[in-house]
Amino acid sequence: MRPLAIGQRSETVRRANLSAIVRELHANGPRSRSMLVARIGLTRSAIRSLLGELLAADLVREERAALRGTPGRPSPVVRTNPEAMVVLAVEVNVDSLAAAVVGLGGEVVELVRVDRASGSASVDDTIAGVVELSRRLLADRRRRNALVGVGVAVAGVVRRRDGLVSMAPNLGWRDVPFGERLIAGLGLDVPVTIVNEADTGALAEHLRGAAVGHEHVLFVTGEVGVGGGLIVDGRPLTGVAGYGGEIGHIPVNRDGRRCGCGAIGCWETEVGEGALLVRAGRPADGGRDALDAVLDEAAAGSPVALNALEETGHWLGVGLAGLVNLLNPELVVLGGRFGRIHPYVADSIEEELDRHALAAPRALVRIVPARLGADASLLGAAEVAFEALLADPADWMRRSNRVELASA
Ligand SMILES: [Zn+2]
Repeated sequence: MRPLAIGQRSETVRRANLSAIVRELHANGPRSRSMLVARIGLTRSAIRSLLGELLAADLVREERAALRGTPGRPSPVVRTNPEAMVVLAVEVNVDSLAAAVVGLGGEVVELVRVDRASGSASVDDTIAGVVELSRRLLADRRRRNALVGVGVAVAGVVRRRDGLVSMAPNLGWRDVPFGERLIAGLGLDVPVTIVNEADTGALAEHLRGAAVGHEHVLFVTGEVGVGGGLIVDGRPLTGVAGYGGEIGHIPVNRDGRRCGCGAIGCWETEVGEGALLVRAGRPADGGRDALDAVLDEAAAGSPVALNALEETGHWLGVGLAGLVNLLNPELVVLGGRFGRIHPYVADSIEEELDRHALAAPRALVRIVPARLGADASLLGAAEVAFEALLADPADWMRRSNRVELASA
């Protein structure tokens, strides 16, 4: 590779620095100028000049700081402008569809979740449902004009390059060119990225939830199926094509039930919602209402419900012990319905970790419920949609003519 000319090199550095500032404000909220100087590691004058560009493009806003009674001039507070750019986040799950408009900085402008009756998860119905939600949320012209990307989380095995859903056993999909069809249906002139819902859940919990400040995290989400998202050294681990993290299909019981993927005794056949409901004496496909009822019964002390939850907790612990040995995470975040049952399964999980995991990694791991609740995967889809902008805000400013407008 030829060395870059000095002009090119300084341009590369400028773009990287703009990216660092916007990322910092997006992830951590308002910052004083002096805090940005400390966090980004640039001089005061360099930060001032870069902020000038971002202010001119209306990506950030600056407010005078309140006097704090400390010596010296107060440093102005810089924050992202959530109206300047928004993304559309979408979550496709077996029993619900959700969409949200999220502004730069992570502010949720509007969020809609609709339940779906079982049997309505066909590809056509799903695309029609997402298109309808998108039209509703983007009806406001200003919002539509501020849209920079769409992120879609799907409960299935997704190829990141083009959104092909290779397999989504609980939706009943196989080799569906979902990305291609959804892009055609939405008809929006912004990038659309389709990813696995556990991967987006991990991103969101790492950035704004239970895993903030932790660099080695396993996010395990339980809905109808079970998914895993990994943060390794602070970065998401997705595998070659985005297929990584399919922990729901780790074999745990050779005498177990047949899984939606075709194999016998996958982890999700023991810890998925269906198994819990059957143990609690209900139909496997009872859905969220049935789970609510089991949790109510458990709260009232019903032995059947408590035993069903405890048994699920033991199977959760068996699978987690293997994953702890393999990955040595510092934190396991239980999301989706696992977050809701956490108080009832925590002890059984710890027992199985003591029994099955190696002592050294076991001693370092903590199991916690997700902090973002049921919306973790949806909020993570927003982060995926913001990624291109955060990586190179200068490119976005140039293409959207914000620079020319600002200097005109
Ligand atoms: Zn399976």
